Amino acid sequence: MSVLIVGSTALDSIKTPKAENPRLLGGSASHAAVAASFFSPVKLVGVVGKDFPKRYIDLYRRHKIDIEGLQILEGNTFHWSGEYEVNMNNRRTLLTELGVFETFTPTLPKSYQKSEFVLLANIAPALQSHVLTQMEKPRFVAADTMDLWLNIAMPDLLKLLKKVDGFVLNDSEAHQLTKEDNVFGAIRKIHKLGPKYVIIKKGSHGSVLSSPRGFFICPAYPLQKVVDPTGAGDSFVGGMMGYLATAKGSIDDNIRRGMVFGSVTASFCCEGFGLTKTTHVTRAQINQRVKELEKLVKF
Ligand code: AMP
Repeated sequence: MSVLIVGSTALDSIKTPKAENPRLLGGSASHAAVAASFFSPVKLVGVVGKDFPKRYIDLYRRHKIDIEGLQILEGNTFHWSGEYEVNMNNRRTLLTELGVFETFTPTLPKSYQKSEFVLLANIAPALQSHVLTQMEKPRFVAADTMDLWLNIAMPDLLKLLKKVDGFVLNDSEAHQLTKEDNVFGAIRKIHKLGPKYVIIKKGSHGSVLSSPRGFFICPAYPLQKVVDPTGAGDSFVGGMMGYLATAKGSIDDNIRRGMVFGSVTASFCCEGFGLTKTTHVTRAQINQRVKELEKLVKF
């Protein structure tokens, strides 16, 4: 079973207190697709411009990501730039150049429309909804978002939430959406907006799932050094969806384990700029960290 992933495909220029790296492969869909590719085949939907380096197309191919749904248009690729503070948690957006993203309409190739697992990675909620109108009968649809859409596209986001099974957001976004300071209070309100599965990400403190089988607290892998956390959230949800697409049994049977695999994949993402570390990871290394995490939470 493959996962269909739609989201941003970008060039990211990232500045940390220690280093600066321009025009890396980034975007929510790129991070999620590479993470998911460790577990299942991936179909990518996105848009890039004619300036998009061939080496990044080759990278998608090395991960066996199906890019039939990647539009290559006249113009420049979406370019995002961000700067981290010393604590590596606080991030400031320095620049957003939409380029070809401005006129992007995600159109699914016919071969994508029957996908059973769909990840609507961070992108305008109206576009996320547009993808769903083209799907035949997905088994599990998860959506991610960001503060920008809560600020400028709340009505579209609320419409989307009625149509997805799972919603993944970070704690500050959950607070912004529900005006609840308490994570569990926020979760209760988010369920009322539609999603049966709500996952709140808490950065280096892991994540919390609320599902028909109750709560699950998913740990983050304890890293001693974070090089660049850009895309960690996308890697987390991408890894989880990839895991779910190939695991036997129901979503409820597998989602906790899926989150742990996603969490470990995200830990690798944080150890290098952009996707530089993740693309060199092996499934065996992921499995090893999952084993370590298992020991850490056993009591
Ligand atoms: P994260 O670190 O999980 O928040 O994701 C960072 C990724 O989001 C980067 O690779 C950016 O290219 C991408 N991104 C930044 N701004 C936007 C936006 N407005 N829409 C879609 N993706 C974005």
